[in-house]
Amino acid sequence: MSSQHVVKIAEIGRAPRAAPAAHAVPATGVLLDRLARPLTDLRISVTDRCNFRCSYCMPKEVFDKDYQYLPHSALLSFEEITRLARLFASHGVRKIRLTGGEPLLRKNLEVLVEQLAALRTPQGQPLDLTLTTNGSLLARKAGALKAAGLNRVTVSLDGLDDTVFRRMNDVDFPVAEVLAGIEAAKAAGLGPIKVNMVVKRGTNEQEILPMARHFRGSGVVLRFIEYMDVGATNGWRMDEVLPSAEVVRRIGAEFPLVPLEASAPGETAQRWAYADGGGEIGVISSVTQAFCHDCSRARLSTEGKLYLCLFASQGHDLRPLLRGDADDAQIASALGHIWQGRSDRYSELRASRVPDTDAGAARRVEMSYIGG
Ligand code: SAM
Ligand code: SF4
Ligand code: SF4
Repeated sequence: MSSQHVVKIAEIGRAPRAAPAAHAVPATGVLLDRLARPLTDLRISVTDRCNFRCSYCMPKEVFDKDYQYLPHSALLSFEEITRLARLFASHGVRKIRLTGGEPLLRKNLEVLVEQLAALRTPQGQPLDLTLTTNGSLLARKAGALKAAGLNRVTVSLDGLDDTVFRRMNDVDFPVAEVLAGIEAAKAAGLGPIKVNMVVKRGTNEQEILPMARHFRGSGVVLRFIEYMDVGATNGWRMDEVLPSAEVVRRIGAEFPLVPLEASAPGETAQRWAYADGGGEIGVISSVTQAFCHDCSRARLSTEGKLYLCLFASQGHDLRPLLRGDADDAQIASALGHIWQGRSDRYSELRASRVPDTDAGAARRVEMSYIGG
C-alpha cells in the first residue's frame, strides 16, 4: 500500500462525519513495517483480570483488592473486536490469539470465538484461531470453545509439583485441575496443544525435567519461556533468567535432542525433537536470543489500544475510531499507517541498555493488560 493511501490516525480521530474521498480508499494488502516485517499475527487481550497471581506477571502486592481494573464500558465489545479483526485480516493477518489476563474469565467468550471463526482472509481462508489460558477453567469450557470454532489452545503451566505450582500461581490453585483442563482440551479436539512453562532460576527450574518426562510422547508440545522483563511490577532480575540453552542441555542429557526447522517465519520458539521419536519441545529465548528481526505480531489491548511490541510504553488508541464515525476504509488506513511506522525491536536492544537508567521501564505496560 502506498503512503498516500494511509491516513494519519490523529487525523481520523478528528474526522468529521463525511470522510474525504481521497482517504476512503480501502487499505488492504500485506503491510511491511520499517524493518520490512509483515503483519501476520494479532494477539487480542479480552480482559485485564485474572484469577491467578503469578509473581512474574501480576504480583499480589500490586494486583491487590484495591487495584483498578478497566471498567466494563472501557472494554471493546465482541462486535468491535470482530470488526477490527476483519480489517486486520484484510491487511494480511492470518493468526489470531485470544489472551489476557485470563481470557476464559471473559463472559460468553465462545460468542466472540464464533464471530472470529466466521472471518475469512482475502483469499477466502479461515484464520488460525487460538487461545492462551492458565487452564483453570478449561475443563469446563473446552467443548464449547471447540464447537464455536476455536482451533487450538496453549496452556500455561509452570511445574508439576503441586507445592511449587501453588506457590507460583500464588492463589493456591492445584496442578491437577490444569492437567484436567489439558485432557479436556485434547478430548475436545483442540490440538495440537502447547504447554508453556516460564522458567525462573531458583524458583521452578527443578520442574524442567519432570515436565519434559510427563509430556514426552503425549502429543503435547512443551515450550520453555525465558523469564522476561516485561511490565514494571515483577521485579525482574537477569540472574533469575535461566537461558534456554541450559534448558536444552539439561533435557538433552537425559533424552537426546535434534534441532528442527522453524515451522513458519516469525515463529517465536526454537524447536527440538526427541531423537527417539518422542515428540518435540520448544524454547522461547526472548532474553538470550532475541527474535525481533522477524517479529510479525501486533497486540490489541482490552480497551482497544494497539501495541507494536510487548515492551512498548504507549499504544495507539483505536477505540475513538470504533466509537466515532470512521468507516472501515479509514480504520484500515489507520492500521496500515501505524504498522508502516513500526521500528520496535526492544529485545535486540536490551543488551545495550543500562537497566537502572532505563526510564522507559517504569512506564512499560503490564503483560496482563497488553496480552502475552
Ligand atoms: N492468563 C493466560 C495464561 O497465563 O496463559 C494468558 C495471559 S499470560 C500474560 C500469557 C503468557 O505470558 C503465559 O504463558 C505466561 O506464562 C507468560 N508470561 C507472563 N509474564 C511473563 C514473564 N514475565 N516472562 C515470561 N513469560 C511471561
Ligand atoms: Fe494470570 Fe496468565 Fe498472568 Fe498468570 S501469566 S497472572 S495466569 S495473566
Ligand atoms: Fe517483537 Fe518487541 Fe518481542 Fe522484539 S521485543 S520480538 S519487537 S514484541
